[in-house]
Amino acid sequence: MIEENVNKLLESIPKTNPFCEKVTLVAAVKLQSPEDINRAVCAGIRDIGDNHVQEFKDKYDLITGNPVRHFIGHLQTNKVKYLLGKVDLYHSLDRYSLAEELSKRGEKAGVVSEALIQINIGNEESKSGFALSEADEAYAVIKAMPAIKIRGLMAMLPDVDDIDELTRLAKLMRAKYDELKAADPDLSYLSMGMSGDYELCIECGSNMIRLGTAIFGKRVYPKSN
Ligand SMILES: *Cc1c(COP(=O)(O)O)cnc(C)c1O
Repeated sequence: MIEENVNKLLESIPKTNPFCEKVTLVAAVKLQSPEDINRAVCAGIRDIGDNHVQEFKDKYDLITGNPVRHFIGHLQTNKVKYLLGKVDLYHSLDRYSLAEELSKRGEKAGVVSEALIQINIGNEESKSGFALSEADEAYAVIKAMPAIKIRGLMAMLPDVDDIDELTRLAKLMRAKYDELKAADPDLSYLSMGMSGDYELCIECGSNMIRLGTAIFGKRVYPKSN
């Protein structure tokens, strides 16, 4: 199943977006067992992204094949210390206090962390991130932090069916990315697109997608008690 899904995706996902940029597929591995993650990696997945620090820690030594490690979930400031030096790209710098902690700890440890600034493009209460109107300031403030290298922007589109609205929001993200990138050659990634909307996102200029369900099937959430 997983192997089949990965094979199909690797064949069907466009190699490049309309801006001629390579599209990177990150497997969203929350709640997946190390065995299933390793199957996906073995089938050709090169990048994996975690949401939960505890899961990341528990599984860290059990993942084979040396994939690129992403952290894509909301990150509590007091848990940064467990990830420092082990994550290749943080997708979810969604507030200043998190960026400050990451930079402060990185400075002490001699680790520069690569990260994306998360934008709450739909202005949704349920999602974190800077408003699009705050993106320039967030970029400038975090850019000045010594132990963070900003590599781009990340967003989650709202879970709605209105294609025109999704397209409008995705294009706003691409426009902001282009604007920032014009003055900063370190910017390489616009991380946008999940199982339900990745085709639209690539078409609008995303170059990094995060897929969970499309690879592993529907997630089984543990009962809360
Ligand atoms: C779970 C998750 C994904 C993947 O979602 P699917 O709809 O299962 O593809 C992508 N990005 C983030 C931040 C996630 O938490």
